[in-house]
Amino acid sequence: MSQPERVERIVIGAGVVGLAVARALAQAGREVVILEAAEAFGTGTSSRNSEVIHAGVYYPEGSLKARLCVRGKALLYPYLAARGIPHDRCGKLIVATRAGGEAEVGQLRAVQARAAHAGVDLQLLSGAEAMAMEPGGLDCIAALHSPTTGILDSHGLMLALLGDAEAAGAMLAVHAPVTGGSVTEAGIDLDVGGAEPMRLIADGVVNCAGLGAQAVSRGISGVPARPVPPLYYAKGCYFALTGRAPFRGLVYPVPGQAGLGVHYTRDLGGQGRFGPDVTWIDRLDYTVEEGAAAAFVESIRRYWPDLPDGALRADYAGVRPKIQAPGEPARDFLIQSPRDTGVPGYTALYGIESPGLTSCLAIAEMVEEWAA
Ligand SMILES: Cc1cc2nc3c(=O)[nH]c(=O)nc-3n(C[C@H](O)[C@H](O)[C@H](O)COP(=O)(O)OP(=O)(O)OC[C@H]3O[C@@H](n4cnc5c(N)ncnc54)[C@H](O)[C@@H]3O)c2cc1C
Repeated sequence: MSQPERVERIVIGAGVVGLAVARALAQAGREVVILEAAEAFGTGTSSRNSEVIHAGVYYPEGSLKARLCVRGKALLYPYLAARGIPHDRCGKLIVATRAGGEAEVGQLRAVQARAAHAGVDLQLLSGAEAMAMEPGGLDCIAALHSPTTGILDSHGLMLALLGDAEAAGAMLAVHAPVTGGSVTEAGIDLDVGGAEPMRLIADGVVNCAGLGAQAVSRGISGVPARPVPPLYYAKGCYFALTGRAPFRGLVYPVPGQAGLGVHYTRDLGGQGRFGPDVTWIDRLDYTVEEGAAAAFVESIRRYWPDLPDGALRADYAGVRPKIQAPGEPARDFLIQSPRDTGVPGYTALYGIESPGLTSCLAIAEMVEEWAA
């Protein structure tokens, strides 16, 4: 094999997290190469989500998800404004439904208390107050209002992050899957496949490969296996709403065990959509079955009884990179510094599901501390 080419830092994966990390490292003065397996940046989970800027209300006190979501949101809004990236701080209601009764109101109070610990104020509204806020047919007995929740153009965000990274000297290589490698005295030596196979060696590698993160770590000989968590896929499907968007802000039911419940969002063009549901799957699959609409209709009519028959159209799906098995308690983001991975210079990110989009700038800030 030919001699590897040396670079200072390699970021594996050009999703929103990899791009944010590459930007931070490049702006800190490092020479950065981003290796992306697909034909373009941002074709993975980063373009298959709800595009919601989360307020940080759901996550356990002291968790990375709680901390990085709140910090990420605080960094994101000014960045979106400064770079002219379309977004809308439209707010959100989390609703307790008539069918769910007092048990759901209790869940709202629990969410409110957790949010307060994270420094996020939510207002508990009566059903009448919430329905007055969303006169398009919302039905609920109480709701929490989150004024700092919003929506954004995730492609625009990734384009801006990549632009900043490139302006600071970073280089993106697409069709460049990391297929293996080894930890050597000279650095971390990576095999890159694709049309033009090559070897690259770096003192610092940040694994931001999303659903591929575990495979990348397992493929590099010398990376200890024990800290690498398992990977489970939890698919989330979306249905688009034909016809007028009923609500101005976002509407969420009380959260479920592995997801936030089938919620109403809209994109910046005003297209309403519902999702994502949660289905545990064994292999990657992004199909959305029209037949799933019936279960969506049932969930949605709990808070929007006027949903017309036949108004849902199968849209797209995303897959959450879970690190807990079905039925196990939710796990936090797992962001391993070189000390945690056991390899000098090797940082690895696992389980970056929601709120990873909201948290991207805060994740980059954290990783930069040891990877720059
Ligand atoms: C259904 C759903 C809804 C969500 N909704 C929200 C939301 O509303 N708000 C929010 O904040 N978050 C949300 N999230 C989470 C958010 O989308 C993710 O946390 C975020 O996009 C993760 O970005 P990433 O860069 O880590 O991963 P990805 O976007 O998946 O990027 C990883 C990249 O690595 C590449 N790659 C993989 N293997 C290799 C390899 N061997 N070599 C080179 N490249 C490789 C992939 O091709 C991919 O481009 C949602 C997630 C899901 C699934």
